[in-house]
Amino acid sequence: MLSRPKGCDLCDKSGYKGRMGIHELIIATDGIKRMIQKHDTVEAMRDLAMSEGMTTLLQDGIIKSIQGSPISNRLDGSASNNNTAGC
Ligand SMILES: [Zn+2]
Repeated sequence: MLSRPKGCDLCDKSGYKGRMGIHELIIATDGIKRMIQKHDTVEAMRDLAMSEGMTTLLQDGIIKSIQGSPISNRLDGSASNNNTAGC
């Protein structure tokens, strides 16, 4: 079960104070540079980048959604979405 915004006085009832960004970063490794030089396809470059450990924007979003869920917070004992007061 994923977190849903509830809102509080600190975030003006929006529930969105302190939102986290999701990111996709491709590192220009030698393999990626060679593919760029060869004008290789985006799909092939993505496959290589993922084999070298890159996570896609979608994967990062899913991972962070799961990490922010009440269930995972209870499991790791850290509780709350962040260390600040409010929701
Ligand atoms: Zn709030």
